[in-house]
Amino acid sequence: MIIDCHGHYTTAPEAHQLFREAQLKAFELGRALPDVPHISDDQIRESVEGNQLRLLRERGADMTIFSPRASAMAHHLGDEAVSKQWTSACNDLIKRVVDLYPETFIGVCQLPQSPGVSIANSVAELERCVNELGFVGCNLNPDPSGGHWTSAPLTDKSWYPFFEKMVELDVPAMIHVSGSCNDNFHATGAHYLNADTTAFMQFLQGDLFKDFPSLRFVIPHGGGAVPYHWGRFRGLADMLKQPPLAEHLMKNVFFDTCVYHQPGIDLLFRVIDIDNILFGSEMVGAVRGIDPETGNYFDDTKRYVDALGLSEEDLYKIYEGNARRVYPRLDASLKARGV
Ligand SMILES: [Zn+2]
Repeated sequence: MIIDCHGHYTTAPEAHQLFREAQLKAFELGRALPDVPHISDDQIRESVEGNQLRLLRERGADMTIFSPRASAMAHHLGDEAVSKQWTSACNDLIKRVVDLYPETFIGVCQLPQSPGVSIANSVAELERCVNELGFVGCNLNPDPSGGHWTSAPLTDKSWYPFFEKMVELDVPAMIHVSGSCNDNFHATGAHYLNADTTAFMQFLQGDLFKDFPSLRFVIPHGGGAVPYHWGRFRGLADMLKQPPLAEHLMKNVFFDTCVYHQPGIDLLFRVIDIDNILFGSEMVGAVRGIDPETGNYFDDTKRYVDALGLSEEDLYKIYEGNARRVYPRLDASLKARGV
């Protein structure tokens, strides 16, 4: 089967977005936050059937690891209570999609992060999503300030209470920033890729995986600038007296295939070990148009992977095996269905 590890609910019904706007307005005016609106099953079906579900089938994938729209997490807006209410509404909506299409979607949660608030306060939502909603991972924002980087690096002990819970629940996190409120950084064109690269360098500088040998992160968008500059990172590990990257990071860090052209995918697979790459498209998401040079959607990443001429064994790893290994709860859920 073919599992896409990176999909967001970017097409949620309008009522959900209107609720968010009302919520932020209420916060601004110092009023009580509005109630989460009722959204019908039909509205949810309509929002995915012509979009994610259609494209998944057309492109020949079977399943998507599905999370709330990343750019809308906007942890920098409102306060902790606002972020908490918005996050649980977003996660509950993912659960509704999964319940309607259990063979196609499995959930990954957003976290109720807020600038200056301890990540320990996000543990309860992770537990709820994994234990009660059956989710298999989370999206962790290394920069809840939305482009101003006011948090400590991911290797700082302030993150440890959350990592301890991830290890206990055996769930990975995708490193995923949200919208940018810094005009210097376009959200998907700069802020996302900066964050991917930054997270990798933070891991390189630190010793996080000595403390958490089983902690796992997916760095999306092909690992940001990392594969392209692999020699720089290997050289920095050497200069900083860290072990070689294979030993230091690559038992714990994985990249997806959200790279939107063939030469980029070729480079990713040439540089990074096949065991560290998970198929992903981030569809429907960052780049929605058709490449005039190929006539295909930029984010139809399966075409690029198929064009690599990989062996059956390697194709299995990329499309299914690695995802089952990095997301053991996905593996367990598939096995429970006899898949
Ligand atoms: Zn994403």
